[in-house]
Amino acid sequence: MRDLNNTHMPENVFWGKDALLKNAVELLSLGNKCLILTGGSSARLSGALDDAEKVLKEIGVEYEIFSKVGPNPLLSVCHEAGKTANEINADFIFGIGGGSVLDAAKAVAIYAANPDLKPEDIYIRTYKYSPLPVALVGTTSGTGSEVTGVSVLTNDATGRKKSISGVDCYAKLVFADHRYTASMPRSVAISTGLDAFSHAVEGWFAPKMQESVKIFAIKGLPLIWSGLCSFANGDDCDENLIESMYYGSLYAGLVINTCGTAFPHPLGYVLTENYGVPHGQACAAFLPAFFERASVYAPEKLYELEKLLDSDKDEIIRVLKALSVTKDIIISAEQAKKFAERWEDAIPKNFAASPGGLTPEEAARLLVLNIS
Ligand code: NAP
Ligand code: ZN
Repeated sequence: MRDLNNTHMPENVFWGKDALLKNAVELLSLGNKCLILTGGSSARLSGALDDAEKVLKEIGVEYEIFSKVGPNPLLSVCHEAGKTANEINADFIFGIGGGSVLDAAKAVAIYAANPDLKPEDIYIRTYKYSPLPVALVGTTSGTGSEVTGVSVLTNDATGRKKSISGVDCYAKLVFADHRYTASMPRSVAISTGLDAFSHAVEGWFAPKMQESVKIFAIKGLPLIWSGLCSFANGDDCDENLIESMYYGSLYAGLVINTCGTAFPHPLGYVLTENYGVPHGQACAAFLPAFFERASVYAPEKLYELEKLLDSDKDEIIRVLKALSVTKDIIISAEQAKKFAERWEDAIPKNFAASPGGLTPEEAARLLVLNIS
């Protein structure tokens, strides 16, 4: 049996303003040609793609751009990008975007090195060749994918989200500059902020939480919480807020990197897959129920968290509900039973890592009660 008291954090992150502009030369360690992976428009809008093109030209790294990655990245699109990377003989993958693009980059790196792999075979996790190296620049303040060894992908055939994870899913280089998140629409900033908060909170109560990781939660949670309170107050999004939310999301990423996520995440997947709810909003819809269970099954940990945030459970739930967009979704008991078919992976992991655990029947009840 593996010891729970283990941290594996192989991140190589350049933090802060102009991180990419000042440290681009590091990319030469990954090769001389890359495939830049982006979504439809945010990489350009954020300024990150302009900066990347500028520095790649300066250091003499050739590149081509693949800009077809959408939210909740599809296996088929990652597969297509992997083929492109292979055909142009890319040495590395350079993902620039929100969590969807960053996650896609990790999968594209696997397909690029293994062009004979069928899209669904990525879940088998034994490949002939190691993935290409990956460099990342984030443009949202939510997933923390920059620092996790996780890639969440959507299987075209089933419409379900399913992750791959492991040592081969970490980026080799990350350039973390909060300024690239300034162009996020307010709705994206709120949703991604809720995701970051979910990560740190779910990790806080997880059995794998340990002192070496708790320091990241202690650092990140107040940053994210103050940002969410500002959004709930209707405050403008100034640079301080953007900065707090972005680096807070990276600290929260370092928390889930060790602790994993609890029940709000798999329950949230149901809302994303079936109702199109953005990831952060979808997970946060179940945080009020998560806090209620924490007050019953882990009151001491909850008390410590309330002190850290200088807000009690009821105030936290009030802010979460004020920011929620899922109030109008109604799920019947029959539908909830059907969605419960997807708990197979969640029961031993996310449900077991939640305060008091969670049974599939309780999960179905939460789907019915929590949203409507
Ligand atoms: P996202 O799906 O990457 O992006 C959402 C939307 O925001 C897209 O339309 C995107 O536009 C736009 N956008 C991104 N950055 C922007 C910017 N700076 N300015 C303007 N628009 C911007 O959202 P996300 O919440 O960051 O990522 C969610 C995905 O990450 C989900 O699939 C989730 O399951 C996964 N996730 C992964 C981890 C992990 O550890 N790996 C953890 C949590 C969640 P474009 O399409 O133009 O780019
Ligand atoms: Zn998440």
